[in-house]
Amino acid sequence: MIIKARALVVKEYIVGESDKYVTLFTKEYGKIQALAPKAKKVDKGFASATQLFVYGDFILTSFKDTYRMVNAEIIEMFHGIRNDLDRLSYASYMMEFVQYVTEPMLPQPELLRLVLFSLQALARDGVNYRLIRRIFELRALGELGFRPQLIACTECGELLKNGEEENYYFSSEAGGLICSSCKSYYKDFITISYSTRFTMQYILGSPMKQLYHFTVTHVIQKQLDAVCDNYVPYYVDRSFKTLEFIEGLDVL
Ligand SMILES: [Zn+2]
Repeated sequence: MIIKARALVVKEYIVGESDKYVTLFTKEYGKIQALAPKAKKVDKGFASATQLFVYGDFILTSFKDTYRMVNAEIIEMFHGIRNDLDRLSYASYMMEFVQYVTEPMLPQPELLRLVLFSLQALARDGVNYRLIRRIFELRALGELGFRPQLIACTECGELLKNGEEENYYFSSEAGGLICSSCKSYYKDFITISYSTRFTMQYILGSPMKQLYHFTVTHVIQKQLDAVCDNYVPYYVDRSFKTLEFIEGLDVL
């Protein structure tokens, strides 16, 4: 069978002398692993189209569960992230994350859109990579069905007060905010400000086009870091290799 898929290359690895395996996050079929014959050889055409971060149209033949690439046309290569170590590290983390949370035959077109917007944002000049990482993580979890409850207490259901002077309590275990009376039930809660809560609501609810067009204060960034460092591992049960490097960069 021949299939056509629009996809992002989220992993590439060489097999043997000249072939490559790529993992594609396709719009139509979810995650697909495909053999790209002779892809290591520059003169055979697949070399550039099978690189990590390439978004394109791919034609594959399938037999049982194995796919073989027969044609590839590049739509976008994200040049801006390839020659900068910071950008490359954050983008590699996103690819590892996506590779882990996607499944064969389970299309997740909104998650794919999010990754594409996130790569575009990373490629722009003068952006805050740490903020991009947190926006990506929070929104990705939202798209995966783990959207935290930020309006009412997840324990008793009481609507939370709105006001710039208010503090809020976020618990990964509870799956969102808890009110001051219920917070004693949860040991893992993190105190966040009204602005951080607002930022999280914006990240989860705004159109993707507008996701990467705002900045935050140092305090909000710190609180977003704390929330995501707790929330992401709680729902995505895996330690990412690419994160070790990024966390080294964040300290500098
Ligand atoms: Zn409550």
